[in-house]
Amino acid sequence: MLSYRHSFHAGNHADVVKHIVQSLILNSLKNKDKPFVYHDTHSGVGRYDLTHEWSEKTGEYKQGIARVWAQSERPAAIQSYLDAITSLNNGEGLRYYPGSPRVARAHLRPQDRMLLTELHPSDYPLLQQEFHRDRQVSIFKEDGFQRLKASLPPQERRGLVLIDPPYELAKEYRDVVQAIAQSYKRWATGIYAIWYPVVNRCDIEDMIEGLEGLGIRKILQIELGVSPDTNERGMTASGMIVINPPWTLERDMNDILPFLKEAIAPVTGHWKVDWIVPE
Ligand code: SAM
Repeated sequence: MLSYRHSFHAGNHADVVKHIVQSLILNSLKNKDKPFVYHDTHSGVGRYDLTHEWSEKTGEYKQGIARVWAQSERPAAIQSYLDAITSLNNGEGLRYYPGSPRVARAHLRPQDRMLLTELHPSDYPLLQQEFHRDRQVSIFKEDGFQRLKASLPPQERRGLVLIDPPYELAKEYRDVVQAIAQSYKRWATGIYAIWYPVVNRCDIEDMIEGLEGLGIRKILQIELGVSPDTNERGMTASGMIVINPPWTLERDMNDILPFLKEAIAPVTGHWKVDWIVPE
């Protein structure tokens, strides 16, 4: 279908949580000198101009990164995420927002590499241009789940897979479970981070039930809500389900989420960090 364009949503509260979790995991991988791989199944374009008419039309970033950016005191643990934004803007203000590939690139060392897939005919060339001649980055115009299956296990045997589909179709929740089942068989020690929106809570409950049924241990759920669940249209919360999280992630998100709730949705916000399946 491919009607989803991330430019409308870049920098919203869901991106903030997703990219903070991504940064924390990548920082943990840097604790060892050994190389790691970052694999992004649904990459988008990598960089978003918040002054673009699509961003301005929804104004979603104003309820997300703009509120975090305005805080005078921020948790030290989100510094590398903020640095990724600062470096895109040459230290001046908040015009460009990094998508997950740019957040990842800011955390890569010379020995690390990243692999990106993006299927949209307009977004793929922009992503290619963003990383033109970058030898640490490989980009594929392929289905993200197919490429993931073909790429595992990675030669490095350490790394993060970010799974961030648009969820335009209900089927995509089941596709995620299937992708995890296939990937885990090939690479059980990888870190998998699955982003999810709370639009219909039932879809998330079904996806979690599917993941529980795979017999995988160490599955952590992280969520930030901006308003209570509702039957009306719209995303009220979002989260990340992380398989094999670094041990510091639970602790760090327990510190960071109260800050994000206060910054983004002080009255109606809610958050949680819970084990879906513990060790
Ligand atoms: N991960 C990005 C970030 O955090 O900046 C945002 C990704 S956006 C939620 C989802 C992207 O997946 C869209 O750019 C869309 O074009 C792309 N997409 C949709 N179906 C795809 C597929 N089957 N394989 C790869 N990419 C796909």
